[in-house]
Amino acid sequence: MVQRRGSDSAHIGPVRTCIGCRARALPSELLRVVVVAGTVVPDTRRRLPGRGAWLHPSPDCLHAAEKRRAFPRAFRVQGPLDVGDVRGHLERHVKTEPGSSRIRQEARKQVDPS
Ligand SMILES: [Zn+2]
Repeated sequence: MVQRRGSDSAHIGPVRTCIGCRARALPSELLRVVVVAGTVVPDTRRRLPGRGAWLHPSPDCLHAAEKRRAFPRAFRVQGPLDVGDVRGHLERHVKTEPGSSRIRQEARKQVDPS
């Protein structure tokens, strides 16, 4: 059980849920994405109109969101959505250093639900 003060969420303010890992986070920690003509695009300035979804700027969360088909659900659309733009955005902006990130994953191994 996670210990939590009842009033915490009120102090934190708006909290979004990452559609990849389903963890709640502040909007500043997440990437907003919107759909433009059937393509999911990163809305880095958070100014694009329409329904948005929130995702950690992490290839892992993008992958998880794809696997569970979270994008069509989040955007309430039927068909498959092209996430190539978001993937490209993440690959450009996220530095993948196999060594350092692996150490961090080891440390968190015991909370990994899978
Ligand atoms: Zn996430």
